[in-house]
Amino acid sequence: MSEGSQCSFCGRPKGDAGLLIAGLDAHICESCIEQAHEIVLEEARQVEGSDTKDFELPKPKDIRAHLDQYVIGQDAAKKTLSVAVYNHYKRVLQGGVDDFEIEKSNVILVGETGTGKTLLARTIARMLNVPFAIVDATVLTEAGYVGEDVESILTRLLQAADYNVETAQRGIVFIDEIDKIARKSDNPSITRDVSGEGVQQALLKLLEGTKVNVPPKGGRKHPDQKFVEVDTRDILFVAGGAFDGINRHIARRLNTQVVGYGGSVRRGEVQEENFLSAVAPQDLKAFGLIPELIGRMPVLTYLEPLTRETLLAILTEPKNALVKQYGHLFQMDGIALTFEPEALEAIADKALEFKLGARGLRSICEAILTDAMYELPEAVNVTAAMVESKLSQANGLKAA
Ligand code: ADP
Repeated sequence: MSEGSQCSFCGRPKGDAGLLIAGLDAHICESCIEQAHEIVLEEARQVEGSDTKDFELPKPKDIRAHLDQYVIGQDAAKKTLSVAVYNHYKRVLQGGVDDFEIEKSNVILVGETGTGKTLLARTIARMLNVPFAIVDATVLTEAGYVGEDVESILTRLLQAADYNVETAQRGIVFIDEIDKIARKSDNPSITRDVSGEGVQQALLKLLEGTKVNVPPKGGRKHPDQKFVEVDTRDILFVAGGAFDGINRHIARRLNTQVVGYGGSVRRGEVQEENFLSAVAPQDLKAFGLIPELIGRMPVLTYLEPLTRETLLAILTEPKNALVKQYGHLFQMDGIALTFEPEALEAIADKALEFKLGARGLRSICEAILTDAMYELPEAVNVTAAMVESKLSQANGLKAA
């Protein structure tokens, strides 16, 4: 480098330019390198941003058809959810058209544990290839109290998006056990209810859409980390809960009042076991969710309790059904696995008995097949008698 060299980009002489790097016929100084780097990053960001435009949004019927491959039954929830998701991402794709704001369609799913609430939300996220995070509402507390702040929800989503903020901002969050943060009594309390109403209050902003400073590593364990700003406007929140005892509220309401816009459902027309199909926002309020929270989750639907038939179908029909999964595992060792129809029925009966919804199926199959998976015999045929005997050995399962 000669004494007289200068930056070929800004013309600064060597003396002023700090580090000067020589190319074939030219030089570049430190600050021009930094500027050029910024331009490269900016360009990359724009390409990334344009992903939104390439994002191909399936129609509600396509979403439904995809759900059908993985989730058995639950027609009402599938239909409502497909429409909500379609509308939500239509709104996202519309982008910054300010004069006509479409409101968010966050969703509440009401249904017993193990009936497919998480599965529905997860399947949709996978189909759309957007990040997905599950959080448990019971660990959340109002800021400043022991437990996790609501911002931790976004930390999870950021992690699921590999810390790409743009991608995280289009993700889906499943808030489990939303019913557990219900207000303890119907009257607003004089003392602060930090684990119930306090959390509901804290969730409001997040659900509606706001810019939140998120600790990317989460929690209070890393006080020095830099916060990342996440805009929740385009994040879809799906909340699920069993709402144990909500039937009573629904029944009481149906007793006194005609329901629905068509006014078509009257007392007596709804069978006892179908009360859930009549669930309305008022029932959530009576259960202890605050009206503001209910208002920010305008799409409400329900999941039916699983019957013996649905449990049987869950065992064998979904694309990744348990029977197929175990079959595949054994096949990898060249072992043929078969289930007699009576054995499948016995498994479904046990799952009903244990009241764990479809979640019980997995642990039951595991208990039945562990010995075979250990011994690796030439072939395995599961019979009803085998189900009985393996489960009577696995006493722990009943207690689960
Ligand atoms: P929850 O309603 O408590 O969120 P999940 O969606 O987590 O229940 O279901 C637990 C497991 O049970 C899932 O991983 C899935 O394998 C199975 N399962 C539950 N419901 C269904 C269903 N309707 N169709 C297929 N599998 C189901």
